[in-house]
Amino acid sequence: MGKTRKTSVASALLNWIVGEGRDLDVARAQYRFIQRQTPFLYLMSLAGGWGLVVTHWSVAPLVLTLGLPLAVTAFALFRVSALRRSRDKVPTPDEIRSWQKQAMVLSIVSPAVFSVWGLALFPYGGPYLQLQVVFTIAVVNFVVLFCLIHFRAVAIINAICANSLYFLYFAIKGHQVFTFFALYGIAASIGAFLVLNNHYRDFLRLIRVGRDLKRHAAELEQKQDETQKLSDLNYHIANYDHLTGLPNRRCFLAELETCFARVQSSEEKLSLCVFDLGGLRSINNIYGVKTGDDILLEVARRLRAGMSPAMFAARIAGDEFAVLSMGDDLEINRAADLLRDLFSDACLLPESQIQLVYRAGLVQAYHTVGSATELLERAVYAMQDAKQNGNNPLVAFGPRHLEKMSLNARITQALASADIDAEFSVAFQPIVDVSSNRITAVECLARWNSPVLGQVSPGDFIPIAERAGFINTLTLSLMEKALLAAHSWPEDLKLSFNLSASNLSSRGFVQDFLKLLEVHSFDPKRLNCEVTETTVMWDFAEACRAINVLKEAGIRLSLDDFGTGYSSLSHVHRLPLDCIKVDRSFVRGISPDTAGYGIVKSLLALSRDMGISCVVEGVETEEELSVLRTLGTSEVQGYLFSRPISAGDLEALLQGGATLGGQTGRSPSAASA
Ligand code: C2E
Ligand code: CA
Ligand code: CA
Repeated sequence: MGKTRKTSVASALLNWIVGEGRDLDVARAQYRFIQRQTPFLYLMSLAGGWGLVVTHWSVAPLVLTLGLPLAVTAFALFRVSALRRSRDKVPTPDEIRSWQKQAMVLSIVSPAVFSVWGLALFPYGGPYLQLQVVFTIAVVNFVVLFCLIHFRAVAIINAICANSLYFLYFAIKGHQVFTFFALYGIAASIGAFLVLNNHYRDFLRLIRVGRDLKRHAAELEQKQDETQKLSDLNYHIANYDHLTGLPNRRCFLAELETCFARVQSSEEKLSLCVFDLGGLRSINNIYGVKTGDDILLEVARRLRAGMSPAMFAARIAGDEFAVLSMGDDLEINRAADLLRDLFSDACLLPESQIQLVYRAGLVQAYHTVGSATELLERAVYAMQDAKQNGNNPLVAFGPRHLEKMSLNARITQALASADIDAEFSVAFQPIVDVSSNRITAVECLARWNSPVLGQVSPGDFIPIAERAGFINTLTLSLMEKALLAAHSWPEDLKLSFNLSASNLSSRGFVQDFLKLLEVHSFDPKRLNCEVTETTVMWDFAEACRAINVLKEAGIRLSLDDFGTGYSSLSHVHRLPLDCIKVDRSFVRGISPDTAGYGIVKSLLALSRDMGISCVVEGVETEEELSVLRTLGTSEVQGYLFSRPISAGDLEALLQGGATLGGQTGRSPSAASA
């Protein structure tokens, strides 16, 4: 029990002595402090020591007055110079620990050596010299105590060793005055130690505060780092497309604004190209979203590789990209080259390859462009034009677009407030069997009599209705009007009805469309749906899906305006077609030496090969008809037989025998819608 208490007292004492020294920061500070104090400590001790040498030179033996002081001085000089050399070195934790041990040993050995040497001189001198010895030892002990105070363990050991030594010496010698002097020295050391201990505590507090400050600073820095990283991330999320890593629409608009402002105040050129990928929705549906993503990634990769340093590319919508360029890098031919390079190679998928289609619009900042937004609108408009016309995948915005845009703006406005039932009607244009002059079918054509704009061509308002998102409502309303008119028609007269791209890409529309036939008890076999190549090609898979549903219901399918769009024979073969309608542009002034002649001839041959019918559109003159006859045309449509006419005029025409003109009187129908 008693032993345990002793052990715990001893360990508590030891802990008190060296406790703080275990803290590496404290040990480091002690190290630095002692480094600075040591030369002064040696100087003071050597000064006291050499003072004793001088006064004892003639009385004490040489070994005490020269040998030992010289050895100690040499040792002190060696230590000081070693300290100077390592002054700038930052010690490792291991070096600090070994220095601590070394300092402890020295703190026992040094005062012992000094005290033993001083006391060895003591017997040689008279009372004054003896007083000098005692006084020097006491002063040196005090100096050591002061110098080592921030190394408390060492200071204590030092004080204990030195004071006990000379107290014991005088006590044993029975020298009363000096024994008391030594006792007083011990008491004064304890007192000084207690006072200095407060400084030592402040020293520790200072180190801890410093450490806390450092830690807080580090935490603050880390937090600032994290905040910076977070704000960088936020910026990235807000400005870059997560999939392709390209700048997103927001970032693009900001860049566009900046570039546009630059162009306004300088003579620099600014070009903007916007392009859209065809069929991405179908790719997602058929191959999965992952494949769609891979394709977008591939396009972005090719775009990065192909663009010049002056270009800025962005993904501005799901399947829409934009390329912005200051200078000449994106003038029309270069833009065409860039796009061709981007899309010439098919995208390789694990199981197949996809040839991407695109439509692009290009615009340059003229002085007439009022804002960056207007510039973008123009590029998008040119792209829409490329989509509708199908021939050229890249369209540059020009004056004709400007006129069309202002008309479109008025149409869009009027369309938004239009009363569909009251303002829209249908007209019918007969399709005629050439050999019998009989009307085999009628094509239904939309008519809009706007109270604001007057008669508006369907070629103008249909694309706008598509963009405005109400083409389905409009188509269904027109179809209902056509079906109501068809109630009075002969049973064998077919109805040809135009469908647009948006109609085909809406599943709900196809269902509503079929329901309408049911409601009006119209035999689907009497219905022929006309779709253009452009309509089908833009999203071939999606269009095919809708077409198959219509075909399953018994509806026939015609490919309208054939020859003006992509003219892709592979697609013609892949579609379940019943008829192709040859565009009227090939018929204008047709004769054996016109290009149209060869085209119509081969299209007729193609339809024969495919076992489907062929209607030649836009026949206006007897000459055109007779050339078409020689080519073996069986069905035609055009002003020669009839312009599009109202439902009432058609009914009158049909009641008159449904036979138009004849070789003799085939003038355009008088009735016109
Ligand atoms: P389309 O389907 O090719 O329709 C034939 C167009 O050619 C009609 O123009 C018609 O009036 C015109 N046409 C017929 N015979 C001749 C001729 O001998 N000479 C000339 N120069 N033109 C002739 P329209 O009615 O202005 O329609 C233009 C286009 O608008 C249509 O071309 C069709 O693509 C679209 N469209 C018309 N109605 C609808 C509709 O209800 N839905 C959809 N989606 N599109 C429609
Ligand atoms: Ca048509
Ligand atoms: Ca047509």
